[in-house]
Amino acid sequence: MGSLSSSYFEKAKTLIPGGVNSPVRAFKSVGGTPVFMKSAKGAYLHDVDGKSYIDLIGSWGPMLFGQAHPVIENAVKEALNDGFSFGAPTYKEVLIAEKICSMVPSIEKVRLVNSGTEATMAAIRLARAYTKCDKIIKFEGCYHGHGDSFLIAAGSGVATLGTPDSPGVTVSTAKDTLTAVYNDLESLQHLFEANINQVAAVIIEPVVGNMGLVIPKEGYLAGVRQLCDQYGALLIFDEVMTGFRLSPSGYQGICHIQPDLTTLGKIIGGGLPVGAYGGKAAIMDMIAPAGPVYQAGTLSGNPLATTAGLAMLNLITENLEVYTRLAEQGLKLKMGIRSQLDALGLSYTINQIGSMFTLFFTNQAVNNFADAKTSDATLYGKYFHGMLERGIYLPPSQYESWFISDAIREEELAKILQASEETLQQMFA
Ligand SMILES: *Cc1c(COP(=O)(O)O)cnc(C)c1O
Repeated sequence: MGSLSSSYFEKAKTLIPGGVNSPVRAFKSVGGTPVFMKSAKGAYLHDVDGKSYIDLIGSWGPMLFGQAHPVIENAVKEALNDGFSFGAPTYKEVLIAEKICSMVPSIEKVRLVNSGTEATMAAIRLARAYTKCDKIIKFEGCYHGHGDSFLIAAGSGVATLGTPDSPGVTVSTAKDTLTAVYNDLESLQHLFEANINQVAAVIIEPVVGNMGLVIPKEGYLAGVRQLCDQYGALLIFDEVMTGFRLSPSGYQGICHIQPDLTTLGKIIGGGLPVGAYGGKAAIMDMIAPAGPVYQAGTLSGNPLATTAGLAMLNLITENLEVYTRLAEQGLKLKMGIRSQLDALGLSYTINQIGSMFTLFFTNQAVNNFADAKTSDATLYGKYFHGMLERGIYLPPSQYESWFISDAIREEELAKILQASEETLQQMFA
């Protein structure tokens, strides 16, 4: 090998568990050595060995406009002049709250935290306090961060590592998390019927990005909303990934279903660590210091992170046509790869919505986690490495979505399709 990446990784493994600070980065499910990055700009990532890649993960979602967009970069540089953190309120927190509430109609009040994980953990605590019930329902393969209550049939990195239940999560915690099958209303109804007056909330990724991309069937989310109302549970949309990715008001702005609570992250920080949860004022006002439900954060609403997030949200509302452009690129990517696979006579499923995309090497439609698991992960690993070699950085796991950014234009799209053509030829011809 002899690359800097591989020597850094060897050293990293002696100091950091598995050599990485988040598991999927380690390339475990695709094999090989992770690439250490040095810098990024626009559509490109640049590694420590001098190689460049077209970025199809966008930091796992946040980089809607591509890496280091000048507007966000300049806003953060300017904010640096005022100091980094005060532990006291700033007006920017009010401005970003106002912005979020104006963009997402179901959010009347919002609390900022530092990650998506914090947002979902706080949201279920709040839901439990509000309903005075203990249980929550999640869906097999949906990922809601690494909080104990969610590490039950979680997708994403957990699926990749094949540890659906993490050791360290107590049996008593796990018993309060019920799991239903995504896109299957009957399985949800059965859980409700078996747990009358015990379910605080249903938490769902309205479009799933964490078992690979899975799209809700027509009418499914309306059915979930209706069952929550019927059985007195709150509906939490985990839009950490889909919020501001699929529309300026999240996927709820597309499916026109109003959740009681929404969790946000990723794009909302513009690349800095931010998460948020919000919803109906009557529920949100139960949070301390307005109410008794405790939740806090030393760096929550951090001025640099808030600045980046606000700049990102302003950029979105000033460039709403971005969603049309991203959807066009997503569709072109799908059509392009589809025709390559068809020409080779291969069985596959491509799920795509807007700028989210997953290629599954399976002959089955992928509507839930069991379907996703029929995909041939070995083939995905080969495809991943073929693309990586040709300068395209895909998610190093079958169970993750690709993210197209607005910096990916015709030139980059042509390069992606060229690399895909060559990779598939190498694999199958
Ligand atoms: C990424 C993600 C999370 C966790 O967010 P972190 O910032 O990684 O803690 C939660 N829910 C969904 C849907 C996500 O995609």
